[in-house]
Amino acid sequence: MSFINICRDNTDPFYRYKMPPIQSKVEGRGNGIRTAIVNLAEVSRALGRPPTYVLKYFGSELGAQTNESQDRYLINGAHDANELQDSLDGFIKKFVLCASCKNPETEIQVKKDILQRDCKACGHLSLIDPRSKLSSYIMKNPPDGGKGKKGKKAATATANVVGGGKTIADLVTDQKNDDESGETSLVVDENDDDDFLTKKINAEAAALADESIEVNDDDWAVDMSKEAIEARAKLDGLTLDSNAEFNQLGEWLLEESKDSKEDLPSDIDIYKKIVELEILDKAETIQVLAQTLFDDNIVEQIEEHLGLLAKLIKQEEENSKAFLGGLERYIGLENTSLIEKVPKILMALYDKDLISEEVIISWGSKVSKKYVPKEVSKKVRKAAKPFVKWLQEADEESDEE
Ligand SMILES: [Zn+2]
Repeated sequence: MSFINICRDNTDPFYRYKMPPIQSKVEGRGNGIRTAIVNLAEVSRALGRPPTYVLKYFGSELGAQTNESQDRYLINGAHDANELQDSLDGFIKKFVLCASCKNPETEIQVKKDILQRDCKACGHLSLIDPRSKLSSYIMKNPPDGGKGKKGKKAATATANVVGGGKTIADLVTDQKNDDESGETSLVVDENDDDDFLTKKINAEAAALADESIEVNDDDWAVDMSKEAIEARAKLDGLTLDSNAEFNQLGEWLLEESKDSKEDLPSDIDIYKKIVELEILDKAETIQVLAQTLFDDNIVEQIEEHLGLLAKLIKQEEENSKAFLGGLERYIGLENTSLIEKVPKILMALYDKDLISEEVIISWGSKVSKKYVPKEVSKKVRKAAKPFVKWLQEADEESDEE
């Protein structure tokens, strides 16, 4: 069974948080017809929430009685898995994802009359709408605190990781506004003669074109916002799950090197795989590599993979930025002990002619929430400062000469 992204809106090329899709089975007939959610326990574990919360949510959303006994989770009436999966999206949005960075690794806190999600990734506390029926249930039945919680935590998203390379991007921030309305922010006049879809595509294409001209810092990476990807997919006739290839590459590399990065396939085999997946000239490919090739020995490993990296990055700006973005994610979210090594890492990239001085200076001078939450980006930039400053001064000196 293949896993799906916990946040199904997330079009990140390399999303780490996965869950099994809901499996359901309709039982009985007539008035007694009901639906068993066969794997609710697994799905809930992936979300780090008690199964009862999810079941109650379904009940209130679908207006049906629910029933729970001996690990059997039942809803009255016939509901197919797709319907439940869609409803689950609502649960995830309201009760799981951090409202700021959209990371699903959150815990529900009950404080006085307030319910909030406490994000492990960015520290943000997001309020949970108290008007929801489930909210009042949670108030009365808070997630168990103390010891039990730790055990449960370990079994959540982390245990369920199929991919690796931690993510949670900006796009998420980009989508925040849409989340409220469930629509794109583009204004489309439906009363016009033009076919609705055509207009929408045109509008999105126009938006895309605008973005590619105006390169401000926050937009400097590939625009991974849902609208942009959809527009691109429509224009190119690509399918929306074209991200599957990036995932495939990332999961393959992580699987091969799960014990040690020394077990990674050779650069030649990695290159072959990239060709095979037809993602050779994609900046996202480089981003995935930045998130999967390294561990604590990153400085040495940059040198080991120099051939492959140089061949892919080609000192091109877009690729360079994707590589730095991937590193930022890996270092800022996955392996934070490397933050103090950031100057050394940048030095290696510069020294080996992998990333140009200009790109490093520009990257280091502006905080961007494109790849990681803003606070994380700040932290990484702060660590990078000594090296970036050194580069700038060296640059000025050579200008004076
Ligand atoms: Zn967060």
